[in-house]
Amino acid sequence: MPCAAGLHPRCAIIRGFFRAAKTDFPVPNVDLHCHSTASDGLLAPADVARRASANGVELLALTDHDDIAGLPAARKAANAEGMAFVSGVEVSIEWEGTQIHVVGLNFDPENETLNAGLATIRAGRIERALRMSAELEKIGIADAFAGANRFAENPNLISRAHFARYLVEAKVCKDVRSVFESYLVPGRPGYVDHRWAELSDAVAWIAGAGGVAVVAHPARYKISMGAMRRFLTDFREMGGQAIEVVSGSHSLDDVGTFGRLAREYGFYASRGSDFHGPKESYVDLGMLGYLPDGLKPVWSLF
Ligand code: AMP
Ligand code: MN
Ligand code: MN
Ligand code: MN
Repeated sequence: MPCAAGLHPRCAIIRGFFRAAKTDFPVPNVDLHCHSTASDGLLAPADVARRASANGVELLALTDHDDIAGLPAARKAANAEGMAFVSGVEVSIEWEGTQIHVVGLNFDPENETLNAGLATIRAGRIERALRMSAELEKIGIADAFAGANRFAENPNLISRAHFARYLVEAKVCKDVRSVFESYLVPGRPGYVDHRWAELSDAVAWIAGAGGVAVVAHPARYKISMGAMRRFLTDFREMGGQAIEVVSGSHSLDDVGTFGRLAREYGFYASRGSDFHGPKESYVDLGMLGYLPDGLKPVWSLF
């Protein structure tokens, strides 16, 4: 059912809560950040697309971590639903010692440099997972690498989320959230430092493939506002064009803060749920507030 007409019941509810002020034109329901089993999501790529469409999403990007293997199936299902679709990926980078995520949108998925760069990150993930497993072994949690791999449908893309699911199954913790708090974040026994891609490389791969580089969920990083400003300046100088303003990880305050920063830096604004699965995510596909007034939607570039 076309969401722009305001007919989709769930969309109507969201609009009631979050309507962008003073728009007398239909606001499209756009979701440009979500995951499938090609990385650490719980649904197959085609099921993500079908669920997005059922939720009233009109433009979707699938943005798996460091892998674009899910794009063909998601695009096909999106087409079958009559929902617009653009390519996406969420690239893991390290900037001044902090792990940061850069989303790439609407790039050429065949681009060789981008594909080679992502393959390098995936190889690093396997090596990191082995080190994580060795650390967990030291505190009495055996075989975590094999256990996490059982939860990873894509054996080349192993994430902390797969470890978390295994540790819940092994009854080490009651849920994924507590596993992260107790074992998988900096300072905890299962966390290991890792060298991810360089920010400059990630932006160059995305831009070189004709895409737009977007800072994912900027409020999530535990860095000062001064460091955030330096990061945004670096990102813009390297060719980054957009930041997520409305995100499943953002509070209303965060939306205000990053909306203002988007205006100040001249960034386009993006909107994405970061949906991973029905029981693991607070925010379902497309179920988010709309961009604040006066921002340039990143999808106006597509
Ligand atoms: P990785 O890219 O392997 O470092 O894993 C990061 C992923 O773990 C994120 O994309 C989320 O899916 C998940 N994650 C990170 N922090 C948390 C948390 N506190 N609670 C639940 N999942 C988390
Ligand atoms: Mn994830
Ligand atoms: Mn992320
Ligand atoms: Mn994500």
